[in-house]
Amino acid sequence: MDDEEMRRLLEQSGYDADLGMRMAEDAQRVAAGELSETKFYGRYHEELLAEFGQDDREFNELRDDLDGEVVTEADDPDGLADRLASLADTEGLSRRELMAKGGAAAMALGVLAGSGGSATSVGGDSGGDDDDRTRWGMVINLNNCDGCLACMVACDQEHNLSRGSNWMYVFTYEDDYQEDDQNFLVRTCQHCTDSPCTKVCPVGARHTRDEDGLVLTDYDICIGCRYCEVSCPYGVNYFQWGEPDVPESEINDEHQIDSRGRWVGSRPPEGVMGKCTFCVDRQDGQMGEEKIGTTACEEACSMDAIHFGDMNDPESPPNQHLSAYFDDNENDRSEWENRSEHTVSSFKLLEERGTDPNVTFVGNEPSQHARQVEGPVTYESVGLVDNRKEVLDNGAMASAGGDDA
Ligand code: SF4
Ligand code: SF4
Ligand code: SF4
Repeated sequence: MDDEEMRRLLEQSGYDADLGMRMAEDAQRVAAGELSETKFYGRYHEELLAEFGQDDREFNELRDDLDGEVVTEADDPDGLADRLASLADTEGLSRRELMAKGGAAAMALGVLAGSGGSATSVGGDSGGDDDDRTRWGMVINLNNCDGCLACMVACDQEHNLSRGSNWMYVFTYEDDYQEDDQNFLVRTCQHCTDSPCTKVCPVGARHTRDEDGLVLTDYDICIGCRYCEVSCPYGVNYFQWGEPDVPESEINDEHQIDSRGRWVGSRPPEGVMGKCTFCVDRQDGQMGEEKIGTTACEEACSMDAIHFGDMNDPESPPNQHLSAYFDDNENDRSEWENRSEHTVSSFKLLEERGTDPNVTFVGNEPSQHARQVEGPVTYESVGLVDNRKEVLDNGAMASAGGDDA
């Protein structure tokens, strides 16, 4: 998706497109370590208040800064860190607990009196690197994929997706740097640990769950501004533009509600953003204990390509798959020009962007010469619609834009 297309999407939303474009670019710079979250927060706070009447973006680094790291005056000209530290002491809370109360709570407590807004969202932080917490993720072995699209069909059916909303997406591509005529890239939301999409959401709808790292959308409060969509480097967001194909009366809404009582699962309602949830209702036990740690796409794959589980658990299926693979094979992560043909490799998509995805691929990464081609099984033949049959070049395999449904 090029800049012009992104701007067009934002303009359709009726919100400030220029603000969305600038924030998307800067959110990616934050993920890449080129801009501090604190500066990013300050740069857009007033504009967000003017446009949306609130600023409930999720911040990770800022929260950590407030939890004890030094925040420089240049980074925090309003003295936010000091004021929160002082309030935390008064309330008898740790600064992390205070921030976890969310922006509205901080406002109510008067911490941001004068600035008129809040500094964080209800979603919690990124989950950090604490090993004792679950971090759901995937290892996808592209060498095993045969392009049958069963994963796409399973996701579509389980989540009642509208036509064209392919939360799971299988690209077939040819590549001058790979031996086979048909190569596959199986792509979901990467559930990034440092996700640009959560940094730009003005209402805190797009959030990262503290307890397991899932990146979700709170359908109850999403206003459809589409800022998350243009900030995501992976093009995995699908805006529910019209009436969903499956009406609400036909979906089991009890399955879609999280522990806060918020609607985060299945397809979004009209005017709301959707994307892969890592089957949140399964992970929350709403489909039965036996479904925890599984996904619909993984279950449907008969080629042993998709492995879902807790990336912080060395014994989990994805980690076991990875270690078994590399016990037998050498991982060659050299640049394309230096990589021998058909060597074993693992990679994360656009890893250089600093988003720290929770999806690892086994197989060869598409090179800059990759071209999308018709797959062995067409989308139409399995009842799906492909809204983005565009030629993907210059590394855009990973950044083809999301679509409307
Ligand atoms: S892949 Fe995109 S939508 Fe998913 S967490 Fe990362 S930035 Fe957000
Ligand atoms: S989740 Fe909804 S409100 Fe938040 S940035 Fe995306 S479209 Fe806007
Ligand atoms: S993890 Fe679940 S929501 Fe995500 S692509 Fe697979 S089936 Fe769809």
